[in-house]
Amino acid sequence: MIDGLHTQDVRELKGVGHAMAEKLAKLHLHTVQDVLFHLPIRYQDRTRVVPIGQLRFGDEAVIEGQVTGCEIKMGKRRSLLCRIKDPTGTLCLRFFHFSAAQKKQLETGKRLRCFGEIRRGSAGFEIYHPEYKMIGDEETQPESAQLTPIYPLTDGLTQTKIRQLCEQALERLTPFNLQEWLPDELRTQFRLPPLCDAIQFLHHPSRDVDLEQLRLGAHPAQYRLSFEELMAHQLSLIGKRLKAKQDAAVNIHCAGELSQQLLTQLPFSPTNAQRRVFEEILDDLATGQPMLRLVQGDVGSGKTLVAALAAASVVQAGYQVAIMAPTEILAEQHYHNFTQWFEPLGIHVAWMIGKIKGKAREKALTDIASGNAKIVVGTHALFQDSVEFDRLALAVIDEQHRFGVHQRMALREKGMKHGFQPHQLIMTATPIPRTLAMSAYADLDCSVIDELPPGRTPVNTIVVSDQRRQEVIDRVKSACEEGKQAYWVCTLIEESEALQCQAAEDTAILLQEQLGNLSIGLVHGRLKSQEKADIMAKFKAAEIQLLVATTVIEVGVDVPNSSLMVIENPERLGLAQLHQLRGRVGRGKAASHCVLLYKAPLGQQGKARLSTMRETSDGFKIAEKDLELRGPGELLGTRQTGIWAFKVADLQRDKHLLDDVQQAAARLHSQYPENVAPLLLRWLPSHDQYLNV
Ligand code: ADP
Ligand code: MG
Repeated sequence: MIDGLHTQDVRELKGVGHAMAEKLAKLHLHTVQDVLFHLPIRYQDRTRVVPIGQLRFGDEAVIEGQVTGCEIKMGKRRSLLCRIKDPTGTLCLRFFHFSAAQKKQLETGKRLRCFGEIRRGSAGFEIYHPEYKMIGDEETQPESAQLTPIYPLTDGLTQTKIRQLCEQALERLTPFNLQEWLPDELRTQFRLPPLCDAIQFLHHPSRDVDLEQLRLGAHPAQYRLSFEELMAHQLSLIGKRLKAKQDAAVNIHCAGELSQQLLTQLPFSPTNAQRRVFEEILDDLATGQPMLRLVQGDVGSGKTLVAALAAASVVQAGYQVAIMAPTEILAEQHYHNFTQWFEPLGIHVAWMIGKIKGKAREKALTDIASGNAKIVVGTHALFQDSVEFDRLALAVIDEQHRFGVHQRMALREKGMKHGFQPHQLIMTATPIPRTLAMSAYADLDCSVIDELPPGRTPVNTIVVSDQRRQEVIDRVKSACEEGKQAYWVCTLIEESEALQCQAAEDTAILLQEQLGNLSIGLVHGRLKSQEKADIMAKFKAAEIQLLVATTVIEVGVDVPNSSLMVIENPERLGLAQLHQLRGRVGRGKAASHCVLLYKAPLGQQGKARLSTMRETSDGFKIAEKDLELRGPGELLGTRQTGIWAFKVADLQRDKHLLDDVQQAAARLHSQYPENVAPLLLRWLPSHDQYLNV
């Protein structure tokens, strides 16, 4: 086998010494292959002179023309304005920094060739600080025969330098040292050009290429590379899934009486969707392999009950269940529900959060280790080393996107001590757009609870400027006087929890002054967990009418009698978060309202988000919109973004490729298994690091 370019160090290239190698390392360029995969972010067309009359705003173009005048303008900033014309139109060159000599040089009648970005100025089209030179009447040679690539840079690296390095790397490139891992058959089926051609082309597109297509990332050479990268990601997930499935898990044959008893106790019967998803879970539990199932369901669709039914089946078979939630408030609420449902059936439920100390902690740990506690509810404190299970067989993880893959794996380890993997049930209330589900969660099976319990009325959402704050306060007053309960959610810039709590405290005081008769509670992240729990209990018991809160109540809190929510500064929140918050109302029979009390004036993004909220309450639609507005990194949560830092692919832009990518990955995996490892090595050199956690 010939030495691949991935084994050739960048220092083999001319002009790369120690210092340059360090700069390149900042861009993750270590080998000659890395340099080849360092693709231009855009291209400039210096191959032709564009008639002024054909220019469009935003173009970068070469133009030629004759100076018709040059003067100093005073305005806001002093500038030199030079007017030029060609037979099709006129254009201004504007200089904010200039010398007297320059002004003199730009004499009326002189011919210039300029390059720059076309802006819309007060005097029509303008170029600020163009590159320019004087030309004679006869000169017509283009500056360049090819499009000029513009590469991502880092401090101390110039375009000229990186272009030279790319040139050298391209000279070395052959189909033998940059192997093609996609077989002809696949390439034909999915219309993918050969790898080497694609790379050559992207560094040097010919001058007649469709620049717009390149800008959109829609050129075959571009999607060939994105396709391969996305395939590598799919393959790593396929591998991860197969690996997890190789382990043994306890086999649970049937639902058992316990789940039946649980149902009989309930004041309602499960929806068809809840039943169906429970059946899907039961099928998984009976395979002898670990279940890896993601349950998606909109806020209020009743995921907790599905988890409880699964838990009942596992407990019935003599094993333990862990229920894990991302916040104490939510864990508390699950604890409350599970205790209420299971203690009457003689099943002990234990409680484990970080703040539990002393005797209570000792007792919980002993109960968990001895198997006396069949069900354990808690936060990530369940991961701690001191927590040892007796026979953990099912881990339920609520609100998945807040936990990273790593934490999920840690819990898995806890069940491993008897050679069995725990089954995993992952529940998310933020519906995941299909694009993301296909790529980020391809290692999981997926169930959707696509039905809300009967009798829910959709929440009426109103967008109101804070100039009408008083009306909103009056509205809260009359709702509470009618016996309804309300939330008042204070938001602030995320980074400062302290400020956020302060804002909530201030708001609570102000509201109490105005609404003297109402009983107002306050809950935020800086309260002790016991204080939080007490206030939530009082709100649930309707002793508190108006709950002023920070976004700590975002996830999972369930108080059906509350039917009005005011969200302050909603423009600062993402769509998923707003949807979560709004999901706290509309859980009971009363018609519910959500008032988005924004601070005027609204920006573009804010406007787009708030009108989405007003128009739809479908979590999946909202999630798609969120993905469009914010991109995948934000949606998956910071913990996971590292994994999804693509080199060339862009999930949003390339989402139409995903169906094909999935097919192609499955084919490669089954028919060309020997190609998988080298492909992973090319795109995810450190993939083992996160697959084997
Ligand atoms: P989420 O899916 O948002 O976690 P929850 O599990 O908190 O939803 O359920 C929301 C509310 O709906 C709870 O009060 C729960 O008791 C109630 N609920 C769940 N399933 C049903 C059902 N089949 N019929 C009526 N109410 C239900
Ligand atoms: Mg929930």
